[in-house]
Amino acid sequence: MNRLIVLAGPSGVGKGTVVRALRDRHPEVWLSVSATTRDPRPGEVEGKHYFFVSDDEFSRMIDEGELLEWATVFGGHRYGTPRGAVDSQLADGVPCILEIDLQGARQVRESMPEALQVFIAPPSFEVLVDRLVGRGTEDERERERRLATAKDELAAQDEFDEVIVNDNVIDAAGALERLLLPSR
Ligand code: 5GP
Repeated sequence: MNRLIVLAGPSGVGKGTVVRALRDRHPEVWLSVSATTRDPRPGEVEGKHYFFVSDDEFSRMIDEGELLEWATVFGGHRYGTPRGAVDSQLADGVPCILEIDLQGARQVRESMPEALQVFIAPPSFEVLVDRLVGRGTEDERERERRLATAKDELAAQDEFDEVIVNDNVIDAAGALERLLLPSR
């Protein structure tokens, strides 16, 4: 059974929305909370959306081996997965999702090859642009940066065990559910 899913896909593709839809139906699914050096967006809650840490604290976490993987994403901000929480959830048999970027997914592919690697793809690049513009959380420069990264990420989707095209949230969440909770 796939107890650990690594979920990657370009910024704006709707990873967060798909995971929320799955967890609405299955609250027992655990989503890893990453550490990041970026600032919180309006409405983001410490410990729920991210652990917002300083550069020094992030470096300390790397040095102490506290991160399962980490990467520098979009112009300098670092993001990483705290290892301890993942280990203890897996030990308890809880189905887990790591929502991380391509670089992080590659690291976990090496360190935890038993994890199922799932890529969420947009129906088209144009749809991705529309979604990123529509959500309005980034300025134009940041958006351009994310779209450039998105092109690289889309080119890497064949590396993944499964690709889910996010045409609509219900279907995409259903596909994820079948991968993570196959016996239900
Ligand atoms: P955002 O700033 O929009 O919340 O996230 C930006 C990117 O960072 C997303 O592509 C997201 O998947 C990635 N990300 C979030 N947490 C982690 C993490 O713990 N590790 C890695 N490698 N990437 C992450």
